[in-house]
Order: sequence, then C-alpha cells, then structure tokens
Amino acid sequence: MILVTGGDGYIGSNCVLKLLESGKEVVVFDNHSTGHAETGAFFAKNYVGRFSVFEGDLLEPGDLRALFSDYDIDAVIHFAAFSQVAESMADPAKYWRNNVVGTMNLLDAMRDAGVGKIVFSSTAATYGEPEYVPIDEKHPQRPINPYGQTKLAIEQMMDSYDRAYGIRSVRLRYFNVVGTDQDARIGEWHDPETHLIPNILKSLFEEGREFTIFGDDYDTRDGTCIRDYVNVLDLVDAHLLALEYLDEGGKTDFFNLGTADGYTVKEVFETCRRVTGKDIPVRIAGRRPGDPAVLVADNLKAKTQLCWVPRRTLENSIRSAYAWEKRMHKC
Ligand code: UDP
Repeated sequence: MILVTGGDGYIGSNCVLKLLESGKEVVVFDNHSTGHAETGAFFAKNYVGRFSVFEGDLLEPGDLRALFSDYDIDAVIHFAAFSQVAESMADPAKYWRNNVVGTMNLLDAMRDAGVGKIVFSSTAATYGEPEYVPIDEKHPQRPINPYGQTKLAIEQMMDSYDRAYGIRSVRLRYFNVVGTDQDARIGEWHDPETHLIPNILKSLFEEGREFTIFGDDYDTRDGTCIRDYVNVLDLVDAHLLALEYLDEGGKTDFFNLGTADGYTVKEVFETCRRVTGKDIPVRIAGRRPGDPAVLVADNLKAKTQLCWVPRRTLENSIRSAYAWEKRMHKC
C-alpha cells in the first residue's frame, strides 16, 4: 500500500487517481486544511476496497503512529505542505513548523515502522535566483524565500535520514505545474489564486475581474517572465516512475521536473485566448517582488534515469484547465 500525504490537494489528488488507475492500493493522510475532501469521496466511490483516508496531522506524532500501525505501508509519496511564496515571507513560522517539523515527524514514523522509501515534492524554488538557464540539478541551491528554504531543509534532512536510518528518497523538483486530468475531475483550486493560468482563465468568468501581467520590462523576448509549464499528469507519471526506481533498489537522488521549454507570460496569455476563442481583459502592472526573469528546467536527468517523457503541450494543459474552470463556474 502507498501512503500519499496531502492526497487531497491539487497535485496529490491527481497522483492518487493515477496510482488507483494503475492498480495500486492507496491510503491518503490529510488534515483537509487546504485540499478538498470531495475528491476523496470520488475515489472511495470508484475504487472501493483500494482507497482509504486517514484524517490526521503531520504535527501530531500520535496520528502518524496510528497510521503506520493501522496500514501496511510499503512506500510514501509526500505532498503535504504549505506552498505559497508570499505567505511564507509573511508567516515563516507556519512554513518551518508545518513543512519541516511535519516532515521530520513523518520520517521518524517511517523509521520506527521500518518503511524505507519516500518520493518528495520539492521545487525549483530551492535553486533561488538562477545563475544560468536551463537549470540542471547541479545548479547551486540558494532559495530566496522561506518556502524554498523549508523544501531545501527537507531535502537535506532526507540525506541524513538515508545515511543514518536507510530511508531512501527521490526528491522531485517541480517547475510550474499546470493543467488537470482529461475529464476535468480534479483541478487547481486555491484561495486566493496566485497562479498564472487559473488567473487568466478566471477573468473570463468573474465579472469585473481583469488579468494582470506582472511586469513587461524584463530582459526576455517580449519583456515578460519566462517559465517552464509542466502538465500535472506528466508530473504525476514521474512520481510513479520514482516509486519504481526505489522499488528496484535505486539510491537516494533528485530530479528536475520541467519540459525544458520556456514560455513568456504574454505567450501563455495568447495561447489562452486562442484556446478559449474569447477576449480576455488584461492590464500591465509592475513586477511582482521575487520573480526571476527566466526559470527553465534542464530535464535530461529525469529523462535518462527515470525514463520520464513529458508529453503534454502547453495548449493541452490550458484546454484541461479551461474545462475545469468551466466546471467550477457551472457552464
Ligand atoms: N503572473 C502574472 N499574473 C498573474 C500571476 C502570475 O503575470 O496573475 C506571472 C508571474 O509574475 C510569473 C509567471 O506569471 O512570471 C508565473 O507565475 P506563477 O505564480 O503561476 O508561478 P511562479 O513562477 O511564481 O511559481
């Protein structure tokens, strides 16, 4: 059985769906703080006997002890975390406690239960301001906000826990994750929404809402920031490959998950316009603090060592995100 922490969230629930579709048994551990328990009800109905939810908190070691004693867990995929950069600057204690202390409790529970494999959601934010692009895994890790710092601290903790207790980890460093599953059953759902594609699409549905481009004076081909947008289903595939890698005895390692293609904010906006066939209200504002001009992954390591192939295009991702927004707005 696979334990998925944060299995209620956007990426976690897409991963649970894929695990269930590929025949695995899954237990989700979630405190339902930012995720959406509705997806759990969908899984419970459609995958009877292979899906369970354990409601608990990573900050409660007793919850974790009960979880590991109630279920026969073979490996862990760890998504549960707070992930808003701006919030992490305003309230770092919340991030250090939840992300770092919470993960330490999880690793302690794994050690005590003799579970030795974990796949972890890390982030390109651990690299900080890029010194060169595309960014490979050898790029220095100097995060510039508490969110990235907590994810880096966890990566380092995982190295110590491997050396001392033999818990092997795969750390997947995500670039910009977008899209949803083909049937738009599970999408992105943040409050407040800060991400680019949902923000562009929401301005189609919400009266008076206007999409804002944060800065058009960057040193890029059209002045707006360049990012590497990886589809959530491709991303989820990498988690299953990482589990296989650990099952086959692979050593602790880390991989970038991005497409290696970069798009500007204006290019993403134009693609949204084309896909939706609609005029989208837009305005240009100043730069958002902390946004580097270009973030693009070198993904060769994941391609060669995990045999990962990101297949979906930016247009595929936007189509699925649009289907999801329509569903959310009941059109
Ligand atoms: N962005 C924007 N308007 C928005 C949201 C984002 O112009 O309403 C820009 C942002 O400045 C960045 C890119 O879109 O250059 C991607 O931002 P997002 O928050 O989606 O992801 P991040 O790269 O910050 O993780």
